This record gives sequence, C-alpha cells and structure tokens, in this order.
Amino acid sequence: MTSPIPPAILDTLRRADRVLLACHVNPDGDALGSLLALRRALSDLGKTVVSYVEGPVPQHYGFLPGIGEVATELPALDGFSAAMALDCGDELRLGRQHQTLLTVHPFLVVDHHLEHRSFGDFSWVDASRSSTGEMIYELILALGAPLAKESAFCLYAAIASDTGSFRYPSTTAQAFRIAQDLMLAGVEPAVVSGELFDNYTVSRLKLLQLVLATLELAADQRIAIIEATPEMFAATGTTPADTEHFISFPRALASVQVAVFIRQSEEGVVSVSLRSKGELDVARVAAGLGGGGHRNAAGVRIRNQTLAQVRRTLVAQLTELVAR
Ligand code: 5GP
Ligand code: MN
Repeated sequence: MTSPIPPAILDTLRRADRVLLACHVNPDGDALGSLLALRRALSDLGKTVVSYVEGPVPQHYGFLPGIGEVATELPALDGFSAAMALDCGDELRLGRQHQTLLTVHPFLVVDHHLEHRSFGDFSWVDASRSSTGEMIYELILALGAPLAKESAFCLYAAIASDTGSFRYPSTTAQAFRIAQDLMLAGVEPAVVSGELFDNYTVSRLKLLQLVLATLELAADQRIAIIEATPEMFAATGTTPADTEHFISFPRALASVQVAVFIRQSEEGVVSVSLRSKGELDVARVAAGLGGGGHRNAAGVRIRNQTLAQVRRTLVAQLTELVAR
C-alpha cells in the first residue's frame, strides 16, 4: 500500500511563497529529476523557488532541463516560507550544511528510503515507492500545478534511474502507470535512456577498464567486489562522479548475490555502494556502518579507514549475509 501525501505538506506548499528545495549530495537521476520537476511546478504556481545541492552536479546530468539553475553553494536562508529535502534518507545526506538548512521552518521531507532516519518538521516517507520522482509526480498533481513537458522528462529520468530502467525490484505497477502518463505528456523513453546510460566519455570507459580489472570474487562467487583508487582517477582524468552505474557490472554476474563497489572519493573518505538480489537486505548492512538505502541498493561513506580495511569489514559481513 502506498501512503497518501500528508495534508501538512500540501498546506505548507500551497501557502508558501518562497520555497527552498534541496536534494542529496552526489545527486543521482532521482534526486535531480525530482528537484527540477518540483521546482518548475512551484514556479508555475507563482512561487519563488531556489533549488540547492551541495556541489558539484555530475556533468552527465547536464541534459536535465533547468539543471543550470541549481545552486551548488548554500544560498542566503532568510525569507523562505518553507524548505524541502528530496530523496534524503537522513539529514546528513543534505551535506555539510545540513544543520544550517534545517533552520528553515517548516522543513518538509519527501523520501522513499527503507532505512529512513526521521528529520524535519513534516515528512512523507514511503519505502514502497520506486523513486522520489514518483512521489513528486503525485505531489504536482495534488497541488493542481500544470505538468510541463520538461518536468515530465525529469520525472521519467528520476523513475528510470531508480528502477534501473524498470529492471530492479523497485519496479512497480505504479511506476509503469506513471511512466505511461509521462510518455503521454511527451516523454520519449529512448531519449532519456540514451542520456542516462549511453553517456560515456572515452576517459570514463578507460576508468571502467581499470576498475573492472580489480574484480575479486568471494563466498563461492556470490560476492563480487570492484574498487576505484585515486590513482585511477588521476591516470584517466576522471572524477568519482564518473563511476555512476559501474556497480551494475559485478551485479550482472549470474552467480552474484551481492555486488560491492568501493572507491576513495576524497582524502580520508571511502564510499561504498552495495547491490543485492532478491530478499538479501544490504540496507541493513549499510545502516550498521552508518549509511542507509534500500533493501537491494544501499551505500555508506566511511571516514578514516583505508580501502583495504573497508574491504575486509565488508567481505566478512557480507559473507555472513549470503551464508544465511
Ligand atoms: P549509491 O550506491 O548509488 O551511491 O546509493 C545506493 C542507495 O543507497 C541510494 O538510494 C542512496 O540514497 C543510498 N545511500 C548511498 N550512500 C549513502 C549514505 O552515505 N548514507 C545513506 N543514508 N544512504 C546512502
Ligand atoms: Mn531515490
């Protein structure tokens, strides 16, 4: 069962005339697509909207209409009548300035993460949703805002991102119904998929070559691990943002139950992506290490540990998980 939009969220947005929207750091297609679609809808209702994500925005999302107007530096926070966090499983996902952002009231939260840790004043959290984009589509309709063609495009990108093009378990009948509405509003799925998935530069493909060469299998090939080091980014002239979707390669192995991608994104921070199949819950594992996510897709950022240390911890915990 999906949960309905809390009236406090609708009332707040209807009344507000200056709204701040923010999504999570290292934004993905769902976070950015949702942010841009809601921004456009609220603007069309005559409101002043400022959208923010702690920078940088990955270059390969440059195709999303309106992306150029997303602030990557914290705007002045006075004068807002409401703020909203989109696609954030906890307040830390808003980035280093999360406490400052949360001084805006009422602070609204719209999210679909299983391991959601409550924050803000009014929340709409529904882990049965494929994506935040799906929830924002409903919100736009409920507000009576027109659905601009650009917004339909952004929302389709959001849903296609979080369902892996309608392949992951997060794919629901509701996601298909909304995708149909978005197509009828003028979205061409092949165009969005091309932008989302067939968007590599040569440097990025060279990075993938290096990363795939690190493949390690554990637990009778039920666990696959790949890794990216600062040296690989330097050698190929790429950044951690270029590793998006790399996790789908180890995940594609038929024998694999859990795929792991470990990378050193900045000095002293190791980022981990986890993907599982079926009932295996990697959100629990990520949450145990201070991160979060969904049953089949989760992540965590770990400070003050080397890649090798993080790898050992994960192999131990995941070997136990797949043995159960
Ligand atoms: P990804 O592996 O694509 O970075 O993230 C997979 C899922 O886990 C996403 O839904 C994302 O929101 C969540 N996730 C990734 N990193 C973190 C983190 O550091 N903290 C929390 N709470 N969730 C995360
Ligand atoms: Mn999402």
